[in-house]
Amino acid sequence: MPSYRVTPTNPAAHLFTVELTVDQPDPDGQVLSLPAWIPGSYLVREFSKNIVTLHAWCGDAAVAVTKRDKHTWCVAPCAGPLRVVYTVYAWDLSVRMAHLDQTHGYFNGTSMFLRVHGQDAGPQHVELVAPSDPLCEGWRVATTLPEAPGTARYGFGAYVAPDYDALIDHPVELGTWSLLTFEACGVPHEVAFTGVVFDLDEARLIDDLTRICTHQIQMFGEPAPMDRYLFQVMVVGSGYGGLEHRASTSLICKRDDLPRLGDDKVSDGYRQFLGLCSHEYFHTWNVKRIKPAAFTPYDLSTENYTVLLWAFEGITSYYDDLILLRTGCIDVDSWLELVGRTLTRVRRGSGRLKQSLSDSSWDAWTKFYRQDENATNAIVSYYAKGSLAALGLDLTLRKRTDGRVSLDDVMRALWVQHGQPGVGVPERGIQAVAEAVSGLDLQDYFDLAVRGTEDIPLESMLAEVGVILRTRAAKDSADKGGTPGKGDLDRRGDVGAVFSGARIKAVRDGGAAQAAGLSAGDVVVAIDGIKAGKAEAQLGRKAPGSTARVHVFRRDELLVRDVTLGAPAQTTVWLELADDHADARAAWLQAAD
Ligand code: ZN
Repeated sequence: MPSYRVTPTNPAAHLFTVELTVDQPDPDGQVLSLPAWIPGSYLVREFSKNIVTLHAWCGDAAVAVTKRDKHTWCVAPCAGPLRVVYTVYAWDLSVRMAHLDQTHGYFNGTSMFLRVHGQDAGPQHVELVAPSDPLCEGWRVATTLPEAPGTARYGFGAYVAPDYDALIDHPVELGTWSLLTFEACGVPHEVAFTGVVFDLDEARLIDDLTRICTHQIQMFGEPAPMDRYLFQVMVVGSGYGGLEHRASTSLICKRDDLPRLGDDKVSDGYRQFLGLCSHEYFHTWNVKRIKPAAFTPYDLSTENYTVLLWAFEGITSYYDDLILLRTGCIDVDSWLELVGRTLTRVRRGSGRLKQSLSDSSWDAWTKFYRQDENATNAIVSYYAKGSLAALGLDLTLRKRTDGRVSLDDVMRALWVQHGQPGVGVPERGIQAVAEAVSGLDLQDYFDLAVRGTEDIPLESMLAEVGVILRTRAAKDSADKGGTPGKGDLDRRGDVGAVFSGARIKAVRDGGAAQAAGLSAGDVVVAIDGIKAGKAEAQLGRKAPGSTARVHVFRRDELLVRDVTLGAPAQTTVWLELADDHADARAAWLQAAD
């Protein structure tokens, strides 16, 4: 069986060394490969580019290695044991690759462990070696990779995964992280913080996470599918991200987002952090175990296509914040603000009228994960619109079954029929399970919300549960929506572009900037003969229908364009409670108004 010895050999140079031993290599020549992508993040990232050196030995004799393609190595036949030693450059501070310096080490197995073809179905051994750099003294190991006998919890030493798929699904954090622990439904949970944390209100965080995790385990039904769970949290000054795994999640959050002692308000940042924890935890069921058939098993050498990412990310995005409400971490107004922001994000982009959720899922590899300046006009987020499709599905099920069936029931059925037995969800499987559970014909809803490009009629759906959807003009492109807004926003002319200071980041299809011939990348230098500063604010002072003479640099050439400002688009959404339908709303939200 393959055995990997991982050493943070040179933290200052960001280098790990891996020594892979294969006792019985393929007699025809051993093939080794590194994944091209990491499950949960649908972009071919070509992790093999970070392998700096690679050599193979049989005993003391060097063995020839040739490359078959960018991530596949063929080792010449040898009797064994085969020893392959390679170095991995680790300087990517994200949740997707690997990072090593004298303050900590982190890696995903997809960046570190060459797959031994023909031997990936059996146990995979790992030995984690402590760094010898004196600055790394006192490091410990935070991972859900199972310890081998003789290795203490959090210790360097031997670990073992049942197969290669498991080996690459337990990221490893090395360092002097601080630890919080709690239990949810009898399952031990840990939170390991890397990075400086000030005055953390540990009791509050544990209380909130306990409620969120307990709720989710009970929603899908005890027992939980994992026997322990780890939140690996990288705390930074500025940054955000998360990636789900079968018994852990890797998160990056802002220091200021964590709750501080003496402050009992739910800041926007803390709400976002709890939403992220809730989101990744929900994936423990929805995508780590309830999976598209297209991912069963994954082919990590190339893109894996499915129309279902909207269900795995969108339904998860619907529940992440809803569960904060149901568990009392946030109140109804706070939740309505978040839904209003999601509606705003979706409605501001005309890409929603061109790309369906199915197509957005299928093309995630080249479109959602490779967004450019035209994304707003060309694509729709399967996270944001996916969560609205889940909201609409939940309300449709509740209404048409008189409250007998909800999306919660569909998720439990998906768990029982697909997650627990490990049976992949076919491409039309979400609709099929929702129809079987409810007894409804949902073809029209899925054609509209998932396979179509028209807006989901959420105004009328929400009205029937006592929530009023209102729209208004945006204050500026930094206005995320979700609130009523202040002042007379309709007096502001719409330029139809998104700015970053004086630079145009994106131009909206059909807007004033596009009609005048302005483009993404243009730098505004003057408006009506006056030096431009915050170009968007300067243009926003002009009334709809008025014209501004705009000087821009495109590359190094000066252009002059007259921009006739448009009527403000009413695409900023906020929600408020109505007086009626309180019972239906309470049954849906399962929270006090
Ligand atoms: Zn997700």
